[in-house]
Amino acid sequence: MARSQRPGSLMGVMAISRRRSKPPRRPLTGRVVAITGGARGLGLAMARAVAARGARVSIGDLDAELAAAEAAKLPGDAAGLELDVTDPDSFKRFLDATEERLGPLDVLVNNAGIMVVLPFLEAEESLTRREIDINLHGVITGMRLALPGMQRRRTGHVVNIASVAGKVGVPGEAVYVATKHAVVGLSEAVRVELRGTGVELSVMMPGLANTELASGMSAGRGVKIVEPQEVGTALVDALERPRFEIYVPASLSGLLRLAAVLPRAARDAMNRFFQTDQIATKVDKTARAAYAARASSGMPPAEPPAPPSVEPEAQVTEVEVQPR
Ligand code: NAD
Repeated sequence: MARSQRPGSLMGVMAISRRRSKPPRRPLTGRVVAITGGARGLGLAMARAVAARGARVSIGDLDAELAAAEAAKLPGDAAGLELDVTDPDSFKRFLDATEERLGPLDVLVNNAGIMVVLPFLEAEESLTRREIDINLHGVITGMRLALPGMQRRRTGHVVNIASVAGKVGVPGEAVYVATKHAVVGLSEAVRVELRGTGVELSVMMPGLANTELASGMSAGRGVKIVEPQEVGTALVDALERPRFEIYVPASLSGLLRLAAVLPRAARDAMNRFFQTDQIATKVDKTARAAYAARASSGMPPAEPPAPPSVEPEAQVTEVEVQPR
């Protein structure tokens, strides 16, 4: 042993803590990974990333046809199945079919979600209920169904996809923010309950990402839109070397930790500086119309939706929104 790394020496302590902070990677090869809402967007990018590492992937989605078509393009064993995360029976059927086809579930990624972008008082109640049902109840149901088997086998990993909107207030999408804060809180609590069971729990907070969900929105000053592949890479990393909080990009972690300890006025000033209080103030409703129609009904509209009935120059609406 090198003299500087002897136990008790400063270098020795640092070497031990370095070894402790970097556990060896657990390969994904052969692990069974189920991803909700995996037919497109971030879910599909995560499915591709874990499949490329040798995982056996099952994607469940309201759009069963698209899920099957995308699963057929993945390398190795994969399944594309019908799933409505708001229906516990449908969720159970999805997980049962996954295990029948691919084997015992190692990983569940609770990813399915929708985002309603409207000032709080303008969002229809039925739509915000649907948002809560998918974004929060879907995650609760997924954990209820997947955790017992994982606990019995004393192995498994659940990853809940929240958002930066789970850590900050975002005007213009208040109920979405509420659901994502709820997913963060839920994950914090269940994580502690899982201690000593052999089952891992993570919560992921991506920033505004380049998917249909973010269409018509734009990032603020110095804020880069996240590419779905970055989220896929972050998932692979978190599954190979489990940790609780995952920020995408990782640099968001420091910024959000700093913001959390600042007094309210300083936090507001920081938001103004980074223009995070304006990131989606200019929502292009025309560009967002197809997504909004799909989010409210569950399936893409058969015909392109009619543009909103406003004067062309008024189609860019001022709505204060921060990054997801
Ligand atoms: P997306 O709209 O591109 O894809 C979401 C998928 O979920 C769709 O294929 C849709 O059919 C499916 N889905 C919707 N409702 C469902 C249900 N009831 N049951 C099963 N599947 C359902 O959206 P995305 O951007 O890929 O978002 C995925 C997740 O990432 C969401 O939870 C979202 O809140 C979160 N997120 C997105 C961003 C972003 O900017 N895109 C940022 C942070 C977090």
